[in-house]
Amino acid sequence: MSSFRRIDRPSPNHGPRTEGTRVDLLILHYTGMPSAAHALERLCDPAAQVSAHYTVDEDGTIYAHVPEDRRAWHAGRSNWRGAEDVNSRSIGIEIVNPGHEFGYRPFPPAQMAAVAELCLDIVKRHGIAPADVLGHSDVAPARKEDPGELFDWPGLAAQGVGLWPTPSQADDGAFDDAEISTLLGRYGYDTAEPRSLLAFQRHFHPNGLTGTPDAETVRRLRALLRLTGR
Ligand SMILES: [Zn+2]
Repeated sequence: MSSFRRIDRPSPNHGPRTEGTRVDLLILHYTGMPSAAHALERLCDPAAQVSAHYTVDEDGTIYAHVPEDRRAWHAGRSNWRGAEDVNSRSIGIEIVNPGHEFGYRPFPPAQMAAVAELCLDIVKRHGIAPADVLGHSDVAPARKEDPGELFDWPGLAAQGVGLWPTPSQADDGAFDDAEISTLLGRYGYDTAEPRSLLAFQRHFHPNGLTGTPDAETVRRLRALLRLTGR
């Protein structure tokens, strides 16, 4: 049973999933608006043409907008493992935070606890692989930065949601640039997009957010590939 308040706040912004697709991705966002009220209003406004399945407020309240069997409109133009209709294949969760535009700040513990509980339930019910729990920036690196470098991915991974890399001591981090692109592509990133490396760092090496390759980034990427067999 959920320990967090759940409120139905239906959005009209959804459609059928493409036939033959199965939900195999979980995409996490931040709302990127000045307040939760602004975000909830926009996600339910037919004129805005955007939505998500859920929004998690800073106090841990979970708003349900779109039934999970419907295609919510959260990812936009995206790509993961070569597939472009991310909305048809995913559940989308908006997490209230003003974002880089309106005063990016840490996600409070109550909010992260609710996110963890909601995500754990979703990945279990749909059989979503840990490596396919992603940020919006992972699937749209040219356009998006959310949920951003302050998001507690390692904390979620410790609770069984997503992955966090533990690099091998034996890996000296030596690399060449062509290899990095190949490895990013093997993991799922769009290698046609140069900002994929930055997106990888934002998710998996937030203290090394440079957009340029370095030994620690490569060690973490290799660790994830070993862990997942990709
Ligand atoms: Zn987003």
